[in-house]
Amino acid sequence: MKHRPPVPFLDLNAHHAPLREEILEAIAEVVDASAYAGGPFVSRFEEEFAEFCGAEHAVGVGSGTDALWLALHAHNIGPGDEVITVPMTFIATTEAISRTGARPVFVDIDDSNYTMDPEGLAHALTPRTRAILPVHLFGQMAPMAEIMEFAQRHGLPVIEDAAQSHGAECPSGPAGTISDAACFSFYPGKNLGAFGDAGAVVTRDADTAARIRRMRDHGQTEKYRHEEIGWNCRMDGIQGAVLSVKLRHLARNNALRRQHAERYDRAFAGVPSLTLPTSIPGNVPVWHHYVVRVADRPQFMKSLEQRGVGCAIHYPIPVHLQPAYAHLGHGPGAFPVAERCAAEFVSLPVFPELSDAQIDAVIEAVFEALQVEMVPA
Ligand SMILES: *Cc1c(COP(=O)(O)O)cnc(C)c1O
Repeated sequence: MKHRPPVPFLDLNAHHAPLREEILEAIAEVVDASAYAGGPFVSRFEEEFAEFCGAEHAVGVGSGTDALWLALHAHNIGPGDEVITVPMTFIATTEAISRTGARPVFVDIDDSNYTMDPEGLAHALTPRTRAILPVHLFGQMAPMAEIMEFAQRHGLPVIEDAAQSHGAECPSGPAGTISDAACFSFYPGKNLGAFGDAGAVVTRDADTAARIRRMRDHGQTEKYRHEEIGWNCRMDGIQGAVLSVKLRHLARNNALRRQHAERYDRAFAGVPSLTLPTSIPGNVPVWHHYVVRVADRPQFMKSLEQRGVGCAIHYPIPVHLQPAYAHLGHGPGAFPVAERCAAEFVSLPVFPELSDAQIDAVIEAVFEALQVEMVPA
């Protein structure tokens, strides 16, 4: 067997190495200014990120989870309300709904693009429905045109979980410009990651932005005057400064992820034991994850690991079957597409800094793991 480089699932050191000096200087500026909690470095990043998204406002907050909770709260979602979302997501999506006092109501995902299937919306709608929360899973936007059309017909706000889709686009526009609000996470492993936790709400609506600005800082309108009961959800100054540096490289890094995904697509095309990711026509995904489906996942992952290729599962248990959501009373079979995907999904490395040799190593390892002959490209 010829020598192959090891391929970690994610390599944050490789990601930060070329920016190390620039980032350390930016952090030093925050230290010199003692601007740690919110402040000018956060404001600057907010302006830059809003511009990147093509939206009017971005409000920096403590995490993606905060962003979701604040966006729901700013739309007056609370006890007795229902919010329609998907069961195939990270649990933060539904935690934010539950923390407002509302109840998550699920529609299954589409079997080919893994985002909200708009066909399920009519069935999930009740007189208590107050919002729709699609998730742009793995870097691909949900079918926003259909979702917005349904929401507008029923007078419901739409809040996007864009935690995995910084810079993603769909025919109606980029995340954050179509709906009432889009919620981003800057967790270190995301396409745009901070040096710790951070998040943002992006919106076209000035009132929503103002309400979230107030709520992230204890409902304060001026020092020690509290208009409403808020919470502490501020973004750190250091995170704002780091994110400003890293934002300048996001478009290029997303393009690299896209190139890697295209290489995988070409190499794996026509392999019957592998289901490849598909894009909705007109969508521009940013490939937060490159996710394939295999029938015998344990054997496949073990074989990749033995060949030095890191992989992961996003997500092994759909939210409706999590112990934390047992009270909703959904059993196995309730959302069959999400459940089948949870059993078959495998995420392959797709981070921007992957070398050609590393991508070759992943491709070869996948063919070996599946025990099929590689077709020369
Ligand atoms: C990461 C993530 C979140 C939560 O973001 P945090 O910044 O970790 O709080 C929410 N939803 C999805 C889909 C995510 O991937």
